[in-house]
Amino acid sequence: MKIILLGPPGAGKGTVANLLKSHDNSVHISTGDILRNAVKAGTPLGVEAKGYMDRGDLVPDSLIMGMMEERLKEDDCQKGFIFDGFPRTIPQADALTELLNKLDLKLDFVVNLEVGKDVVLDRLTTRRTCTNSSCQAIYNTKSNPTKVDGICDKCGSPAIQRSDETEEAILNRLETYNKSTAPLIDYYENKGQLKSVEALTSDAVVKEVTSAL
Ligand code: AMP
Repeated sequence: MKIILLGPPGAGKGTVANLLKSHDNSVHISTGDILRNAVKAGTPLGVEAKGYMDRGDLVPDSLIMGMMEERLKEDDCQKGFIFDGFPRTIPQADALTELLNKLDLKLDFVVNLEVGKDVVLDRLTTRRTCTNSSCQAIYNTKSNPTKVDGICDKCGSPAIQRSDETEEAILNRLETYNKSTAPLIDYYENKGQLKSVEALTSDAVVKEVTSAL
């Protein structure tokens, strides 16, 4: 499959992408994960991105597009990809259309995960993420806690609250989403590529997406 997952932070894009990739071995490409790994590794991209990310602001389009062009040229993307957190702005979406044409890749559709602000706030403040970059398992202190507090069940690394998941940063991320990313809903609707799904459970979303493929 070649799809984009659109939706506010906390809509469950990462969880849905992880479930979908086992459907046909498409690769899950999360710009947030790539950036967090770059920050951790201290690469020039990471050093530049860190301040934006900690505040909950968007990283500039030029950095994101350079990074995504490199990623999309890798062989594993030919069989399929699930974009999670990209594109985030209209200029990114325009640049993506050009890039896909250039690489001769065709999008199936864009999935819009619909979820209310209260649900998002609750989900994000209670989310814990494994710090091991090759694991990155996601937990929730209420609905899916780790067996041992703060330790990933799968790999034993620390599972922590991300620095951009404080209430202040989350409110800023939601505002940024409404201002810069939500316009993509109309953008893809107008292109006839949008499929909206109520994101109550990730299993229900996966079912709707796979049956639409
Ligand atoms: P995410 O894990 O998708 O919520 O992304 C975490 C942070 O990474 C965001 O709050 C942004 O600072 C940055 N980021 C991720 N994807 C993008 C993107 N496509 N454009 C700009 N910034 C991004």
